[in-house]
Amino acid sequence: MTIAIIGPGAVGTTIAAEIKKVLPETQLIGRYDKTMSYFPENTTHRFDIEVTSYDRVKQLFDVIIIAVKTHQLDSVIKQLSTIAHKDSLIILAQNGYGQVERIPYPNVFQAVVYISGQKINHQIKHFRDYQLYIQDNTLTRQFKNEIIGSKLNVTLEPNIEMKIWYKLLVNLGINSITALVHQPTKVLQYPHMTELCRHILADGVQVAYSEGIYFNETIIGDIMNIYAGYPNEMGTSVYYDVMNGNPLEIDAIQGYIYRRARYHQLKTPYLDTVYTFLSAYHLKYKHS
Ligand code: NAP
Repeated sequence: MTIAIIGPGAVGTTIAAEIKKVLPETQLIGRYDKTMSYFPENTTHRFDIEVTSYDRVKQLFDVIIIAVKTHQLDSVIKQLSTIAHKDSLIILAQNGYGQVERIPYPNVFQAVVYISGQKINHQIKHFRDYQLYIQDNTLTRQFKNEIIGSKLNVTLEPNIEMKIWYKLLVNLGINSITALVHQPTKVLQYPHMTELCRHILADGVQVAYSEGIYFNETIIGDIMNIYAGYPNEMGTSVYYDVMNGNPLEIDAIQGYIYRRARYHQLKTPYLDTVYTFLSAYHLKYKHS
């Protein structure tokens, strides 16, 4: 299998660097030629990885892993015909849901990503984890076998929807609150914020239920416990995007859940409110 990763950011560079250790021909593709310096597991060990721009790519790939932010996906779709063949396995290594339908190829899979890292200019600081969850299928099984020996841990799921919705909900509560109040996760120390967060999650759980995703009834408490374990000064991706004046990934997270709520004609006042506020913010910065 020939493998390409699109998007030389925190997730894409980590995936490319780890797969390259077992399949050195793997390519990391970006908008421009450049070299990324990758520092795994919070260490100072540095690996340099070449990024190839689309116009220098001269082959079609069997596996393409897309690791751009969800609002950057349209620009990648325009380039796909130059790097994908009709049977390519395309894996979306992104947060959120609802992007699969936008890719005009038959073998497209949404992965659930647990890789923690940060891009600062041409450097990638990987903090922890190398985990991707993907739907079990003949092609995804081949891919998993192909990268045996790399640190990338691919878990094949019989029903990926459950994992996708779990991550959607985890992102929904804390991302919305930290982004709206411009404070890191310690904001949940205020009891009224905890209460608000529970209401937002309850709206999300209701939508999941209508989609046929049945979580255990302790789900809200379980997620609140996860948040309680976060370091006080930790931000979330949407919080950092707001603080840095960047567009947000809300269409694929809050927006996806909101659209499914409308589809099922549900009353989700907390979700609707946070989505409306975050959308107004996103529209302001989308084209800047
Ligand atoms: P990121 O660090 O901002 O990286 C995105 C990369 O995509 C950037 O290097 C950007 O290039 C590149 N890009 C943008 N448009 C492109 C295009 N048309 N063609 C090729 N490359 C393009 O983002 P990330 O943190 O890796 O996040 C990727 C996805 O993973 C997001 O959905 C995020 O929510 C999810 N995720 C992230 C983490 C994390 O810890 N970072 C954890 C779990 C999930 P330039 O460098 O040229 O701007």
